[in-house]
Amino acid sequence: MARQPAKTLWYDRPRYVFLEFCVEDSQDVKVVIEEQRLVFSCKNADGVEFYNEINLYARVNSKDSQEKRSDRSITCFIRKWKEKVAWPRITKENIKPAWLSVDFDNWRDWEGDEEVERAMVEQYAELLQKVTDKGPPPAMDDLDFATRVVSCGAAELRPEGGGEPVRGFQVVLEDTILFPEGGGQPDDRGLIGDVPVLRVTRRGAEAVHFVRTALEPGAQVLLSLDWERRFDHMQQHSGQHLITAIADLMFGFKTTSWELGRQRSVIELDTPSMTAEQIEALERSVNEKIRERVPVTVRELAADDPEVETVRSRGLPDDHTGPVRVVSIEGIDSNMCCGTHVSNLSDLQVIKLLGTEKGKKNKTNLVFLAGNRVLKSIEQSHSTEKALTSLLKNGPGEHVEAVKRLQSSVKLLQKNNLNLLRDIAVLIARDFKSKPVQSELFVLHRKEGDSEFMNIIANEIGTEETLLFLTVGDEKEAGLFLLAGPVEAVENLGPRVAELLGGKGAGKRGRFQGKATKMSQRGEVQALLQEFISRQSPEV
Ligand SMILES: [Zn+2]
Repeated sequence: MARQPAKTLWYDRPRYVFLEFCVEDSQDVKVVIEEQRLVFSCKNADGVEFYNEINLYARVNSKDSQEKRSDRSITCFIRKWKEKVAWPRITKENIKPAWLSVDFDNWRDWEGDEEVERAMVEQYAELLQKVTDKGPPPAMDDLDFATRVVSCGAAELRPEGGGEPVRGFQVVLEDTILFPEGGGQPDDRGLIGDVPVLRVTRRGAEAVHFVRTALEPGAQVLLSLDWERRFDHMQQHSGQHLITAIADLMFGFKTTSWELGRQRSVIELDTPSMTAEQIEALERSVNEKIRERVPVTVRELAADDPEVETVRSRGLPDDHTGPVRVVSIEGIDSNMCCGTHVSNLSDLQVIKLLGTEKGKKNKTNLVFLAGNRVLKSIEQSHSTEKALTSLLKNGPGEHVEAVKRLQSSVKLLQKNNLNLLRDIAVLIARDFKSKPVQSELFVLHRKEGDSEFMNIIANEIGTEETLLFLTVGDEKEAGLFLLAGPVEAVENLGPRVAELLGGKGAGKRGRFQGKATKMSQRGEVQALLQEFISRQSPEV
């Protein structure tokens, strides 16, 4: 779906706002008037669907509002919630949507203009009776935007996590709905037609879209937005503004920077520390503000507007041009910011402060989650808890104690195991020595064992006459080996044994030990050693 330019006239009256859209030959015209929003959609002669919406300047009574189609115009009859309060403009934000060409001059002072309004109400009385059923607005997951390709040039993109640069193209569009990186907020994702946008960056006043497929300059394209990612960023960013403002109000802690992370976000506060009580009080206060449903508004001020001096700011980028954008949480904070924000704190749902970490140079990093991230985090914790409950066979309240008990019993077992292993090594060596005739080759493999186990055996047996080949570890996989015996033989055979076992080793003074990757080759090693011994003593 696309957005259609709509010529619009509007009239502000003490109790009503009249709005008139002028449309081309269109069908399936739908108008939905909600408390804060007006949705307008239709299809053109080719069956292409159009969808437009306005956030209304102030709250209206949707039940007492109506609309009517007559020929090419659609008239909306909107009942104000607060009577006799003038609307200086029709939209909530002081930015005119690209598709809406509003005649702003229609507003006029209606002090004492009740007569005129009464006449107008009568004129619309007929309309009210003929109103057709209201249809639902189109699905909100549709956020397409029609625009045109201005330029497209070959470029490379360095992936965020490092690695090989990706070849592609940098595309500039006439206008965009994708937010480029800025103000601590990561960039949006979306599609140009069906081509995925992998990165959006800012170049002066322009947004540059990185894509893998070239796009034709001049081509008309539909742009769509990954709304889930955007809304998540809006929740974290507005959440940051709120926490920053309240931390300043309550404790005078200034925010020096912040980072919107993939999992969690961090606000750097200019204080060496924060107590648990302060964190708790801050969390309580920000959540109170969310429950109070405080509106968040965006305004654009001229760069030389004296009000610019009064808002919170960490400075504008060097290449900034044009008006200054100010984001205000009503009655709490005004902040120079280019980011995308919720229109009311209630959209944040909830904020969870996860505590603080030591920051750089006497600063404190405050970690937080906002909105859906809180739910996701609880979901993760809950499934971990469920898994632990079933593994540990007790309730979440006893998990920590149960793990502590397990850890100390594992430590004890390891200690016992080590002692037993040493005893076994000694017994193996004694058994070998107790035989009346001692063979020239001694081969032993034990799955459970370590380097110490092998060395004890070698020490106990003594290595002057006997060649020892000892291994520990998984029989088919990786493990450790030790070759011990007459110095010359070990020096000669060690590297070949390591090679046969697909491993590495080193040694001196009649010991050669190392790691093996192919324990399955033990048979080959044994054959090699056997052959060596028979060559040394041909009479056997
Ligand atoms: Zn901001």
